[in-house]
Amino acid sequence: MELIREKWNEIKTTIKNEYSLTDISYHTWIEPLRLLNVENNVVSIIIPSDQSQAFNYISNKFKSFFQVTITEMFENDYDIKFVLEGKTSSFNNEENSSQPQSSFNHIEYEKTGLNRKYSFNNFVVGSNNRMAQSASLATAEAPGEVYNPLYIYGGPGLGKTHLMHSIGNYIIENNPDLKVLYVTSEVFTNEVIDSIRSGNAASMTALREKYRTVDVLMVDDIQFIIGKASTQEEFFNTFNALFGINKQIVISSDRPPKELKELDERFISRFLMGLIVDISQPDYETRMAILKKYEEVNNTNLSEDILQYIAENIKSNVRELEGAFNKVIAFAKLSKIDNMTLESVEDTLKDMIYPDQPKEITSEKILNVIADHFGVTPDDITSKKRNQEFVLPRQIFMYLCHEMINGISYSQIAKILGKKDHTTVLYGFKKISEDVKANDEIANKVDVIRKKILS
Ligand code: ADP
Ligand code: MG
Repeated sequence: MELIREKWNEIKTTIKNEYSLTDISYHTWIEPLRLLNVENNVVSIIIPSDQSQAFNYISNKFKSFFQVTITEMFENDYDIKFVLEGKTSSFNNEENSSQPQSSFNHIEYEKTGLNRKYSFNNFVVGSNNRMAQSASLATAEAPGEVYNPLYIYGGPGLGKTHLMHSIGNYIIENNPDLKVLYVTSEVFTNEVIDSIRSGNAASMTALREKYRTVDVLMVDDIQFIIGKASTQEEFFNTFNALFGINKQIVISSDRPPKELKELDERFISRFLMGLIVDISQPDYETRMAILKKYEEVNNTNLSEDILQYIAENIKSNVRELEGAFNKVIAFAKLSKIDNMTLESVEDTLKDMIYPDQPKEITSEKILNVIADHFGVTPDDITSKKRNQEFVLPRQIFMYLCHEMINGISYSQIAKILGKKDHTTVLYGFKKISEDVKANDEIANKVDVIRKKILS
């Protein structure tokens, strides 16, 4: 056991060399693996929880690599078992790896607002985002010390949210004692609204306690705070309180500070005190690199000309690039095609690549934005599932389709949702119309989603 632990890094680099793994594959899959223990000639290896979605992929692909390598190196027969981080009670024991492990449990992690899916490891760096990526990494390595505040801006779907979560995840992994809090400006606004509405001092105190005792505060999509005076004021005071004691602040927005027209001057000068970085649209090479990353993660193998076709035609937005890739893969799976032809890919993507009227707001666009906003899939929304977490997005979909698409009927909306008649849609529409008037939080939510659809 001790020998294997001592030689753990050597085992990994041997695998890299013996099986000619690419650097990115090695860094993504092998390097993060840690040794749990060796018992009865079974070597248990931990797959980090942020790769839980790739658990099967990693275990299937690398099991024999480890088995052969370890058996050969130690001249003894070993079996290999993979376990997911967090699914084992003993994984913190005697861990002595170079990457300090987070002592965060699930509940503590939930409080950070972070999403493990996003990390620096799965962020593809290109000329369009190199500055933003390195500034983010530096911020993650030395929070509060180098760039404060860090302000990241760029158009939709270019990786701002991904970088913010990467910063947060990196910090709590390497520095589990630090308190990290990620919120969208919508969540922040709703919490302010909530505590004002409840009207008691205790809830305001609780709010301040929550936001002013963190080491790192990240507020995503700050542009949605514009025009909400009490939220702005609260945010400004929070900002100052944290900034005054060298706590790290990270802000994202769809535009540079100077263009946040109705935002108080005071903010702009605060933002200018730190570092402002932008993310622009990815160039062709970066789009190809991103597609190849998706191939690796999904363990798929599309031909080069298909990848090139996607990269040549979908230019402005990584989220769309990801959407196009997923659409092709889903189509291939559905029709059980192993080798997609370029023709069938062209056909599958024709709506994305040659949209009839590019500026028109379609129900598909509304559906995608709402799904993205709530972190559910478009299929969840159009399904018949009655889980609470799908009902609100579905009703907002009914409401916004009716409001934003000229001439669409309730029956047409019902049809998109797979419903035979339109009474549910009518009900959903009325429900949200009333909520928007009576409930500031819902009004804010709908407002933010509407702006996202229009952006
Ligand atoms: P934004 O917050 O700027 O609107 P996101 O961070 O939500 O954009 O990114 C949209 C999608 O594109 C996410 O799924 C994200 O993981 C992916 N993405 C964006 N940039 C990159 C990148 N450089 N490498 C890998 N994935 C990326
Ligand atoms: Mg975002």
